[in-house]
Amino acid sequence: MKKAWLSILSLTFTLLSIAQSNAPATGSALPRPKLVVGIMVDQMRWDFLYRYADRYEEGGFRRMLKEGLTCENTMISYAQTVTAAGHASVYTGAVPAINGIVGNDWYDRALGRVVYCVEDTSVKTIGGAANAAPMSPANLWTTTMTDELRLATNFKGKVIGVAIKDRGGILPAGHAANAAYWYDAASGNWVTSTYYMDALPAWTTAFNGRKVVDSLYKQEWNTLYPIATYTQSDEDIKAYEGPNNKFPHQLSPFVGKNYQLIAATPQGSTMTLEFSKAALLAEELGKDAITDFLAISLSSPDYIGHQYGPNSIEAEDCYLRLDHDLKNFFEFLDAKVGKGQYTVFLSADHGASHAAGFSQEHKLPGLAIPYADNVAETTVAKAFGLSKLAVGFNNAQYYMDWAAIDAAKLDRNVVVKAFVDELNKDPRYFLAFDNRDISAVNLPAEVKEMFLKGYNRQRCGDVQVITKPGSYLGFPTGTTHGSWYPYDAHVPLVFMGWGIKPGRLVREVHTIDIAPTVCDLLHIQMPNGSIGKVIDEAIK
Ligand code: ZN
Ligand code: ZN
Ligand code: ZN
Repeated sequence: MKKAWLSILSLTFTLLSIAQSNAPATGSALPRPKLVVGIMVDQMRWDFLYRYADRYEEGGFRRMLKEGLTCENTMISYAQTVTAAGHASVYTGAVPAINGIVGNDWYDRALGRVVYCVEDTSVKTIGGAANAAPMSPANLWTTTMTDELRLATNFKGKVIGVAIKDRGGILPAGHAANAAYWYDAASGNWVTSTYYMDALPAWTTAFNGRKVVDSLYKQEWNTLYPIATYTQSDEDIKAYEGPNNKFPHQLSPFVGKNYQLIAATPQGSTMTLEFSKAALLAEELGKDAITDFLAISLSSPDYIGHQYGPNSIEAEDCYLRLDHDLKNFFEFLDAKVGKGQYTVFLSADHGASHAAGFSQEHKLPGLAIPYADNVAETTVAKAFGLSKLAVGFNNAQYYMDWAAIDAAKLDRNVVVKAFVDELNKDPRYFLAFDNRDISAVNLPAEVKEMFLKGYNRQRCGDVQVITKPGSYLGFPTGTTHGSWYPYDAHVPLVFMGWGIKPGRLVREVHTIDIAPTVCDLLHIQMPNGSIGKVIDEAIK
């Protein structure tokens, strides 16, 4: 009897201790990763996950595909596939119609000038050249998943954004971030804004003192492997590449002289990840039980892509080196945060078109239409006795000069219709339409939806033009992006680490689904303009 009592007692204790060991530590009521790392690869086409895969190492992209969930059909859900819109929509779960970031810049009717997406004249840049333009997230209308993490942890979870491009660092970090840092090409320094703090932290000043850019320049940019083995790309020197298109790219002559060039080399990503590591260590990200968020954007693949196009040896080498840098970075996270203790997602703000010259050489349709081509505008303006029709042209949208049209006592709708008709005579365009009434446009529903999601009444223009597939508004050399077509809108999306169920997802998802998915994983509220859907296949 006594024995039975004892065994019941010991069973009770055993059950109690099992219950206790499963209970979360005091102060962290929910199981969460110690750190979320968002990696945006600027201009990474989805096919780059596989195109160079034969030479990817085990620890980089291959590790992500093996240990993580790859969402193979991740599409951008709005029409203007550019950097600011891409970063804003991934982090807000919202589209430009809702979050207000309709492009890298747009024409502001009240100010009567073009506005840059993260400009803010009420703040100052800290740590850069004296004339560095001041920046903040003030133009972003909605919260980000990083804001929601700050709110959910009562501002105890740290959020830091890092990118060479100011907009790549600022928009993902959101409004309530501890900091966003970006690269000031005039000084070669990593800088921030008085929006976040009064002075650069000591660790940032110390990092700037190391002049990492100079030591990376001394390495030059040669191919990682013998150049003859770059069989996935065109020859090194092609007329449709931008200037300086020949390997080896000499960088050492620019030590101490030109800090801008690093942006268009793979070393730009190396430098960004080195800075991210310094931020993680100094700010102790992922150290305690409260989840932190490191939002990294790698801008260099975009600069390289624009200059040389996606079929260049430069692009191939960029991704082979990025793969190696990612391997190092994941090993760093394993060591400092702990394997399985952090969640990573990797995606892109947009893809890119083939270079028009490349397409033409291979009998594929593709044309580079000069951005400032205003033949139709001039023709129609003349017909109505006006000097011009538009006050601005951004994101392939004309902002009509209503003041001039009204002053001439012309019917606005008649002028717009004449302009649209004239643009539609141009065989280089797929379609021009009145942006103020997208629902009336004769387009497949899927495509129309993308233009509706990109249309923001306060910030968008009045007449939209769409180039034909493979064509773009841009320079005759290199390439660009910005269209609704899949080469611009189809991007990689891989989740890996804490809480992620590995696999391969084929159903279509959207970049706006990333924020609600991460928020679900963290058990935090989704951003306040989010229309994305949780990718529940990602979550264990
Ligand atoms: Zn971009
Ligand atoms: Zn080249
Ligand atoms: Zn770009």
